[in-house]
Amino acid sequence: MMTRMLRFILAALSAVPCLAMQAVAAAPAAPLPARGAWLERTEAIMGTRVYVELWSGDRVKGHAAIDAVMAEMRRIDELMSHYKPESQLSQINARANREPVQVDRELFDLIKLSTHYSQITAGAFDITYASVGYLYDYRRHVHPTEAQIREALPAVNWRSMLLDEQHHTVRFEHPGMRIDLGGIGKGYAVDRGVEILKARGIRHAVVSAGGDSRILGDHLGRPWLVAIRHPDDPHKVVTRIPLSDIAMSTSGDYERYFDEKGVRYHHIIDPRTGHSASKVRSATILAPTATQTDGMSKTAFVLGPEKTLEIINRMPEYDAVFVCPDGRVLYSNGLRPPAPRPAGAPPATPTALSPRETP
Ligand code: ADP
Ligand code: MG
Repeated sequence: MMTRMLRFILAALSAVPCLAMQAVAAAPAAPLPARGAWLERTEAIMGTRVYVELWSGDRVKGHAAIDAVMAEMRRIDELMSHYKPESQLSQINARANREPVQVDRELFDLIKLSTHYSQITAGAFDITYASVGYLYDYRRHVHPTEAQIREALPAVNWRSMLLDEQHHTVRFEHPGMRIDLGGIGKGYAVDRGVEILKARGIRHAVVSAGGDSRILGDHLGRPWLVAIRHPDDPHKVVTRIPLSDIAMSTSGDYERYFDEKGVRYHHIIDPRTGHSASKVRSATILAPTATQTDGMSKTAFVLGPEKTLEIINRMPEYDAVFVCPDGRVLYSNGLRPPAPRPAGAPPATPTALSPRETP
């Protein structure tokens, strides 16, 4: 539980408020509203830790808003969980090999959106990875044999998923195909949570599910300070970034894994090989919505940091921080600290988004 929490350390989750102030000393603090409080709650939903924290002028309304977000997360889980046999997603996995399976427009749209991420990541993100992914059990330290992977791998291909827009049906073209929205569903749920809070008039909040988070507004006039943890030490911080009104997802090879004979078997699978993808140790993506960041946070594991930075740097809404196997930390162009200035140059204007390296 603790390690999951420490993928991000948000300002108000730990002893960080003073750090938040240090990092954003230039940001003017807005006058505190006369009455109001930060309210927070954590629940176990979607097989992970869901966290909501918000500022509300009215405690009763604030708690009701958190209730509504948690209820929405449970609803999405009922619809999209591949663990629950009665979910619509499980119905697809059970029957789409034989016939088109009609599902709610909402689920259909998310499946369709997942193919957009497959397209822009050259297939690194692929919800049909589950055709081989189901052979892994990280808790029981089970992984498939090479022969099992060879047999299952031809079913991994998002292009073999036939999506009928008009009837919102899904049909699998290849036998043995399965899908799993574990790589995008939490980001989607976080965005739904934020929409619910906005509709209830909440203007300052954080909603998280596993490694996917979105910040609504700021921390009452100051940015939140987000720390990215070291892959091997949950108490060590790789970098800190001040952020407001943004979503972020961190994927890490230390989340669900086991080690065997020097090999780390973890939950991000390369759709081309059926093996755990290990080109980075962690990847953090920033963008306006958590669906976007979740959809992109697996890519660097599969394609490698350089190729993924090329993709990210072409998309102005996105930024990224990668921790490489050799310990290097790579940033997208929008997050790079400014280059050292030549002697005699006029002073640089400070940029709020430059991450701060910690010793
Ligand atoms: P979290 O589940 O905490 O949000 P991630 O965002 O890193 O963590 O998502 C990891 C999950 O993504 C895996 O548990 C699995 O369900 C799914 N997944 C793994 N590999 C892929 C892939 N290549 N494409 C799409 N989804 C994947
Ligand atoms: Mg995620």
